[in-house]
Amino acid sequence: MVRTEPPVKVLKITGLGRSGSTILDIVLGNHPCVESVGEVGNLIRTGWVSQESLRAVDQKRLRVPICTCGKRLDVPHVETPDEACPFWSAVRREWVARADAEAIESYPNLQNDFEPKRRWPRLLYERRKASAAFRSYAGLTRAFFESIRAVSGKDIIVDSGKSPERAFAFWMVPGLDLRVVHLVRDAKGVITSRRKAFKKDLQAGIMWDHKGHPPWKTSVRWTERNLATELVCARLGPKRAMRLRYEDFVADPEAARGRIGSLVGLDLTDGAKAAASGQPMRARHNVGGNRTKKSGYIALRPSAAPGRAGMEERPLARGAAAFVGADGVAHAPVWLWGVTSRIWTSYAASEAARIDSWSAARSALPTVAAPAFSD
Ligand SMILES: [Zn+2]
Repeated sequence: MVRTEPPVKVLKITGLGRSGSTILDIVLGNHPCVESVGEVGNLIRTGWVSQESLRAVDQKRLRVPICTCGKRLDVPHVETPDEACPFWSAVRREWVARADAEAIESYPNLQNDFEPKRRWPRLLYERRKASAAFRSYAGLTRAFFESIRAVSGKDIIVDSGKSPERAFAFWMVPGLDLRVVHLVRDAKGVITSRRKAFKKDLQAGIMWDHKGHPPWKTSVRWTERNLATELVCARLGPKRAMRLRYEDFVADPEAARGRIGSLVGLDLTDGAKAAASGQPMRARHNVGGNRTKKSGYIALRPSAAPGRAGMEERPLARGAAAFVGADGVAHAPVWLWGVTSRIWTSYAASEAARIDSWSAARSALPTVAAPAFSD
């Protein structure tokens, strides 16, 4: 079948959790041409497939099936239709019509094949030659985003699931016109945020008790996740990917929306003034995210830039300081990136010199005339 629909524009916010993606997501979603759907990769695992298919999913990866509108996301499992979120009910109906109900049962397994971190080697291999499984994943993913576009009537869909692997997989899906914003928050702010412990609160989207992450662990995670995202963005190139510091976004949302608008080819500055003035913005039908998102409204407070004012500051452990630095700037990634690029540059230079000397030696060889054969 020849597809006549234009590619779906998907804007993906990537980076590490607790970097302000919820706020960016909702601010962008308040534009009339943008549908912000949150961490939509979790939706299928939230109950869009049969109980039998769900049993195969790691229990730790299951999410609370509540939309930011307050209705349920596990639309096939509700007792009365008005319990279900109307937006996601319509998207699921559309997806089933495009992909068929039996095919979508396989989607959680396909996601597990191509989206987790450990699947990098397989993704790189699929880039060379796509398997039947990847083609199936690509077809279902495209149909899913086409369904969101059809139901919302919006040109751009914002997905704030932050995994760089998922962004890379999306880049390989024909029919998705992917743009990526790499959102980086000051490492000290992320460490402070991830040190907090939370009690289980299903209504607020917290599935189990969280002990809080030690600073050294967050530092390593910050470095690893941001480096992986940098690599994906480098692969996509500057026309498809950009880096945004969370602190810059909070200080000047208008400028940040202007930059993101250039990336997606849309004037996003409409409404930026409202965001900058601290007016509350509504989250529509958003999946996943933190307690702020679950409250349904969010307001931007420039004075409360994380890692600066408005944040509970605790002294960093000595080990974390080695990674992060007393000034809150992550030195480890800068250092690691510097070392990596130096190794790469010197390797490339030595390879170039080797090829040069090899071609010089080859051109210096005397030309030998082919012997003439006669019978
Ligand atoms: Zn909803």
